[in-house]
Amino acid sequence: MNNDSKCYTPNQIDCEAEACVYNHSHKCDATHVDIKGNHATSVKETACGTFREK
Ligand code: SF4
Repeated sequence: MNNDSKCYTPNQIDCEAEACVYNHSHKCDATHVDIKGNHATSVKETACGTFREK
């Protein structure tokens, strides 16, 4: 079975924005994120409307 598609719960998003208050060990801890971009599966700090600097 190919389970390659990314399906995530809101607080388990892989994120590289370590400067964000919601980022813990490259996982997003926010309960809701406003991701700018259609069907984004890779979250960049520039693509996230919920980003808050630590
Ligand atoms: S930048 Fe967005 S997706 Fe990344 S940790 Fe912060 S709130 Fe979550």
